[in-house]
Order: sequence, then structure tokens, then C-alpha cells
Amino acid sequence: MSNENKTIHDFDFNLICEYFSNVERQGPGSPEATIKALSFIDNLSDDSRIADLGCGTGGQTMVLAQHAPGKVTAIDLFPLFIDLFNRNAAKLNLQDRVQGITGSMDALPFGEEELDLIWSEGAIYNIGFEQGVNEWRKYLKKGGYLAVTEACWFTDSRPEEIETFWVEAYPEINTIPKKLVQLQHAGYRTVATFILPDYCWTENFFRPQIPIQDEFLLKHAGNTMAEDLVVNLRHEAMLYKKYSAFYGYVFFIGRKL
Ligand code: SAH
Repeated sequence: MSNENKTIHDFDFNLICEYFSNVERQGPGSPEATIKALSFIDNLSDDSRIADLGCGTGGQTMVLAQHAPGKVTAIDLFPLFIDLFNRNAAKLNLQDRVQGITGSMDALPFGEEELDLIWSEGAIYNIGFEQGVNEWRKYLKKGGYLAVTEACWFTDSRPEEIETFWVEAYPEINTIPKKLVQLQHAGYRTVATFILPDYCWTENFFRPQIPIQDEFLLKHAGNTMAEDLVVNLRHEAMLYKKYSAFYGYVFFIGRKL
């Protein structure tokens, strides 16, 4: 397998964690997109219970908590991210309303119909959009909201190079209409859908990685796994530059019927 054909799943999780703990975001997004998605949600009060799944170090969670009332429980598989997350929450004086805990999005520590809102940016792909929206629904109250970002195709067909990359990385990638059908079948009414602007990838996800890559390579000199990881992420940035007309992240906001 050549380096460029490796998917992120083929790397050592500790290395991935170390790499991404040096940047504010672990996926494409922006405060503006988080706030825009939040603007469609009208059921929140100080008593609301919110979950942010696959929270990473909390870039989007802190924005969410600063713009919405209620308590946020944020979950990520990796303890290193959760440590940084809770430090970030304390720095912003949000520790009474925002708590990060280690856990998995496929075994959530919530009761049925406990949550008013489930949030997840750039993370549902870990269990797949269809499984995620179906399994998470039971934790929402009736009338509760789901707001997730998911990788989507923007056209019915696309160049082979980018098709091959994504089918390897995330075979569930599909068009927006297909995702909307899945959301509806899972028992949600679609409230809004919007495509994340390019800068959510270029400025906010790829660019902050550039200054940390050389340092990371220096620290792990001779470690081919670390070198391959950087090659892979640089390749991903190049592909986005070349093919961003064909794919991107989409915010889906649904309401439990
Ligand atoms: N929401 C953050 C992070 C997105 S990256 C942001 O937009 O910046 C995807 C995140 O999902 C990573 O932090 C990764 O550690 C986490 N993750 C992967 N598998 C997971 C699982 N099974 N349960 C919970 N989190 C998971």
C-alpha cells in the first residue's frame, strides 16, 4: 500500500492524538457554522441537556456553550483530548456547564429521552451517519434536535481520483439527498441543511496543521508511521484544493418527531 492510499484508520491512534492535540480543531468547521446551525434550534433553556459526540479538544463545544443555555456533556474516545477539553473549558470559565468525559459514541451513558440536543461535528463517520442518527435518536426527547456534520458528495459523479480516496476513507460518503432520506427514515424532520464554506477546511483545518508538521516530523524522526501520517494529511489537503467542488462537509439539523 502506498502512503497516499492509507486511510486515517491505518495509523497508530496515539500518534494521531498527539498530532491533533496541537491544533484547535480536529475536523473542518468554524464558530460561524456552529452558531448558524444553533440558530435553527429553539427548544433550549437553562435546564437543557446537550451532548457533543466526538468532541475532540472542544473547539465547537465551547462555541456552543457560549451561545446556548443548558449543560453540555461532551464525549470523546481519547483521554488526551478529554484532558485538553476540560482544561479549555476551565480556561473559559465554562466548567460548571460543560463537562468532557471519555467514552464511545456507540455506547453512550445517557438515558432514553434524556437529551434536548445532540451535537456532533466531523465525527459521526466513526460509526457511520446512518447508524449514528438511528442509534442516537432514542436519547433525544420528543421534539429534541440533532445537529451533525457529515462528508457529502455535491454532484452525481466525480473524478476517479477523489472517488477512490473517499471510498477508501469513508465508504458511506453520499449525496445530500441520500443523507436526507436516511435522516427522514430514522424518524427526524429535516429542519435545515447547509454546506460548510471552503474556509472551514482550508483556513481552519488544513492551514493550522502546516506549522506543526515539521516539528512533529522532527520529534518522530525515523518513525515511518509518523512520516506517513503527515504525507497522508498533506495529500488530503492537496485533494481538497483540487476537488472541493465535488465534496465537503454538510450540516444536517433534524428534529425528532
Ligand atoms: N468535533 C471535533 C473533532 C472531530 S475529529 C472537531 O470538529 O474539531 C473526530 C473525533 O471523533 C476525534 O476527536 C476522535 O477522537 C473522536 N472519535 C473517534 N471514534 C470515536 C468514538 N467511537 N466515540 C467517540 N469519539 C470518537
